[in-house]
Amino acid sequence: MFNNSIWLKGIKTKANKKVTQDLETDILIVGGGITGLTTAYFLKNKKVILIDKDKIGYGKTAFSTGKITYLQDNLLKGNKEKENLYLQSQIEAINIIKNIVIENNIKCDYESNLSFLYATNKKERKKIKKIEKILLRNNISYKVKENNNLYNSIYSIKVDDTAVINPVKYMLELKNILAKEIDIYENSIATDYEFIENRFKVKVNNNYITSKILIVATHYPFSMSLGLVPFKTHIEKSFLAAMNVDKNKKFNAISQNGNHSIRFYTKSQDDYMVYCSVSNRLSKNIDNEKLVKNLLWEIKSRFNNKVKYIWSNTDIMSSDSIPLSGRLNKNLYIATGYSTWGLTNGTISAKVISDLIIGLDNKYTSLLDPNRMSNIVNLIVNNMKIAKTYILSKTIKEYSFYKRNVNVYIENGIRYGKYIDDKNVEHIVYNKCPHMKCNLIFNFMDKTWDCPCHASRFDIDGNVISAPANYSIKVEKK
Ligand SMILES: Cc1cc2nc3c(=O)[nH]c(=O)nc-3n(C[C@H](O)[C@H](O)[C@H](O)COP(=O)(O)OP(=O)(O)OC[C@H]3O[C@@H](n4cnc5c(N)ncnc54)[C@H](O)[C@@H]3O)c2cc1C
Repeated sequence: MFNNSIWLKGIKTKANKKVTQDLETDILIVGGGITGLTTAYFLKNKKVILIDKDKIGYGKTAFSTGKITYLQDNLLKGNKEKENLYLQSQIEAINIIKNIVIENNIKCDYESNLSFLYATNKKERKKIKKIEKILLRNNISYKVKENNNLYNSIYSIKVDDTAVINPVKYMLELKNILAKEIDIYENSIATDYEFIENRFKVKVNNNYITSKILIVATHYPFSMSLGLVPFKTHIEKSFLAAMNVDKNKKFNAISQNGNHSIRFYTKSQDDYMVYCSVSNRLSKNIDNEKLVKNLLWEIKSRFNNKVKYIWSNTDIMSSDSIPLSGRLNKNLYIATGYSTWGLTNGTISAKVISDLIIGLDNKYTSLLDPNRMSNIVNLIVNNMKIAKTYILSKTIKEYSFYKRNVNVYIENGIRYGKYIDDKNVEHIVYNKCPHMKCNLIFNFMDKTWDCPCHASRFDIDGNVISAPANYSIKVEKK
């Protein structure tokens, strides 16, 4: 079994140059996932620098299921105007991706595909009925199936103008197109920024990039001052598996409660089903090994197919499930909070941001506005849950699932984490996330230290794997 995303298997890329000196530009895009690359695509005839802390194409987008659909689990927003606009924004994003693929002849296994939304109980069916009203208001035709034999569903609706892609191939092809037009730097991490004399001064690999415009497309903004995102969002995590099936079926599906998601993919003539399990608050997903066991058991009992790939992904959930994307102030832009639909939301965020910069009207600007007042009740509940995670991370000293080769201990008031590898070598790191000081938890599946609050991840030697942390937890050897 390959312990990584199916889209990354066999991918070998050469990194572009990295930032080693001070630079100047008009537009700096930080982050080369679907958001940063698409924004760069729309702004490619301007003076743009795009940087990524790793190699491009290895961020959260590479761990998604690669569905490009508007038939989503969270279309109900409690407000007709928002529901209509949100739905339209997703359809526009699908068209943008389709056009980019066609215009540039991008080979990313793009396939037009049916999307199902299904209910497994009466409560979910009621919600789907409400979603049907949104579709009808927007003149979208769909088909209903009572008692569909699809994954225990009692009711489902389907639309036929959606698609699936291989997200890694899409990003890497976009990178190649952009490399001819803009400056791309990889292995270049932004750690801080200042606004001085009408310019942003961004610290990158201990050098500075000065820019008139700053676009933060790092999935999770790299500084708290960028939109106070930790207080407006929470993180959810899911495990995914790709298993062998007899035949690639030309549809994708999601359960109305968002707990199961399915698509198919053909790789080197083998057909796979990509299956995604229950999405949960990150803080509930502490014992990764147990969650993986649960997923494998679920797959065995439901499908009995051989699992070839297994991986996990996290996403940032906004309190109203609408992105926080656009102008934060004057020349500063962020794009985040995609609530598990970031291929479409990253694309529409890129369009809104580039339109704002170019000076074009975009009807989704206020829908996505990162400064908007969100649902206040959700915000309060969310912050209470985050505070609980933080306090728990501080008070629980020993997790019952820790094994003998992992230890967390305090020495001279400092908290350390120790992992002893197969060759008996000790890897000691600080056990505190540099982002917001949550204590870290060891993830046996990936051999990483994970933050239960905001999803930062570090390897056993303390190097940052995933934002929002942008400083390592290495203990310098004396
Ligand atoms: C289980 C699961 C399945 C999903 N499936 C789908 C799906 O089928 N369809 C869909 O629409 N959405 C899906 N999503 C959501 C989607 O994966 C994300 O919302 C989306 O990929 C986020 O894109 P991004 O560009 O914001 O982030 P990323 O792809 O993570 O890109 C951000 C980039 O910024 C770089 N970076 C980070 N910090 C720094 C820094 N300080 N300096 C420089 N660079 C930095 C990173 O290296 C990375 O390359 C899924 C989510 C989950 C959890």
